[in-house]
Amino acid sequence: PVSFDADQVRRDFPILHQDVNGHPLVYLDNAATTQKPEAVIQAIVDYYRNDNSNVHRGAHTLADRATEKFESARAKVATLINAAEPRQVIWTRGTSESINLVASSWGRSQLKAGDRILVSAMEHHSNIVPWQMVAAEKGATVEAIPVDDSGTLDLDALCSMLDDRVRMVACGHVSNALGTINPVEDIVRLAHSVGALCLIDGAQAISHWAVDVQALDCDFYVFSAHKMFGPTGLGVLYGKVEILDAMPPYQGGGEMIETVSFEGTTYNQLPYKFEAGTPDIAGVIGFGAAVDYLQAIDRDAAARHEQDLLEYAEQRARETPGIKLIGTAARKTSVMSFLLEGTHPHDVGMLLDQQGVAVRTGNHCAQPIMDQFCIPGTVRASFSFYNTRADVDRLFEALDKARQFLL
Ligand code: PMP
Repeated sequence: PVSFDADQVRRDFPILHQDVNGHPLVYLDNAATTQKPEAVIQAIVDYYRNDNSNVHRGAHTLADRATEKFESARAKVATLINAAEPRQVIWTRGTSESINLVASSWGRSQLKAGDRILVSAMEHHSNIVPWQMVAAEKGATVEAIPVDDSGTLDLDALCSMLDDRVRMVACGHVSNALGTINPVEDIVRLAHSVGALCLIDGAQAISHWAVDVQALDCDFYVFSAHKMFGPTGLGVLYGKVEILDAMPPYQGGGEMIETVSFEGTTYNQLPYKFEAGTPDIAGVIGFGAAVDYLQAIDRDAAARHEQDLLEYAEQRARETPGIKLIGTAARKTSVMSFLLEGTHPHDVGMLLDQQGVAVRTGNHCAQPIMDQFCIPGTVRASFSFYNTRADVDRLFEALDKARQFLL
């Protein structure tokens, strides 16, 4: 028995209460993006109705209000992840841009020919491609840390790959394709043991539990607001102050400068050095409301509820003939990737959608691990705390109908 009241929480999410294709919506695509509580929607509307103004220009009252809300959201995020200082929270467009920022700024200024970058074999393309781009420019290499058939990272293999040419170990906290929770504490420690930096892609972790970046001791931690009940197109780069301070700017423009002249330009301090141009002010303020929302719920109970949903779903999957689970690591978040034998994931996804059940199908931007498993992709049901066992039951009813149709 779990104490978390998902039925109560569902009321905070207006989108969940609609029919899709003639059936009540069952939203099981939370790893792609989570839904937004009314408080987040309202914060964005309030900003545009009452406070809309550019930030940091100190020109007038509206600008001051906008700036105050914008910076208080930064402080809220710093508290959420236990960053020592708000200036360690840099706004980006999302996880992808956060990684591109590090690869481009740190990578271009630090990497040299022969250097090695290690990423896990189950990474999202966002944590592979930016490294490949800078590696190609610098003559460095990007190598994959092996993953076994259950979707578990091979830590012994990582140990044997480490040497003093490894400059960066970049790894997901949780795999979006398989749900595997990686032992990031060990990964950070191992990276540091050879003097490498460690970037953790937290896009799939931070919506599920409280992350403590100082306890983790990672050099960078990156995530997207839209996967944690906030708006799309906004993300965070957390970094250690001394590393961020030493990094050159990523993009040039307004706000990121101290003084500009044609003789030479000097750059602003953290975090503004990395925030060129007018930011997504409404998004940041909406995200602040999402962080408030998260801080107000019992996150441990929410996590237990999600684990209950995962266990229930996986148990039902094992009892259902023809379902093959992809990703059976011992430690997983509430992601169930699977195949319905004899069918293509896309066909299954389409038939589920017709019955009001939203799942994701395809390679989940993790083509290398799909290739390793010799599959084109999976059907992925990913649960959030507003899902219920009734949602899982609807998924299996819909799968049953899909199977009758397809086989
Ligand atoms: N990394 C992981 C693990 C993800 O799940 C995602 C989103 N699917 C990303 C990176 C990219 O996030 P965004 O599209 O918000 O930049």
